[in-house]
Amino acid sequence: MSDHRNTKGRVWEALTGGRANQFHTHDTARPPAGRIDTDSHQAEPPQTKSTSAVSRRYSLDSPEVEALVVHCADPRFQTAFREFVTDELGIHNYVPIVIGGGVHAFGVQSLLPKNFKVLWEQIKFAVTQRNVRQIIIINHEDCLWYERMKGYHPSIQSILKSKSDLKTAADIILHDFSGIHVRMFWAAIESGQVYFTEIAPTS
Ligand SMILES: [Zn+2]
Repeated sequence: MSDHRNTKGRVWEALTGGRANQFHTHDTARPPAGRIDTDSHQAEPPQTKSTSAVSRRYSLDSPEVEALVVHCADPRFQTAFREFVTDELGIHNYVPIVIGGGVHAFGVQSLLPKNFKVLWEQIKFAVTQRNVRQIIIINHEDCLWYERMKGYHPSIQSILKSKSDLKTAADIILHDFSGIHVRMFWAAIESGQVYFTEIAPTS
């Protein structure tokens, strides 16, 4: 058995001109490439699916927007947010910024500066590039993002209770962009349904 292997080894050595080790090393490196091939093969069915989906067309909305709307990504509230903005506020074409905790980053700017930077850059982009003149900011009751952040710093709970992050957000936006109309809303839950209350800037 070992003789047979040695014979094979000698033949291989002769064929490769003494570079058997080099080939062997290359050979050893091949299994991962084989796995990639397998993966790409397995990836074919989804590609076929996406190709067939191209046949359907979707309408492109107007780039002219009436407002920028910032609210939480909580899936329980998405229909309520959308219907409130379109049906009650009458805003049909808007830039949505949907992010866990909504404008939370304004209230915790010193504690989570990176979160603030990301959100603020997005708002600035919408205002300057989309010529937004109205900003709607909505926070909501029973926000899991705030719940998760509670342990981060003791002040976060009081920020949520007083809704002060909505006001802080409005103050910062108005400070940097004059002529922008900012409206703040609080989405509360009652008997399994959502209702909205506007927060006055001075209260
Ligand atoms: Zn939330």
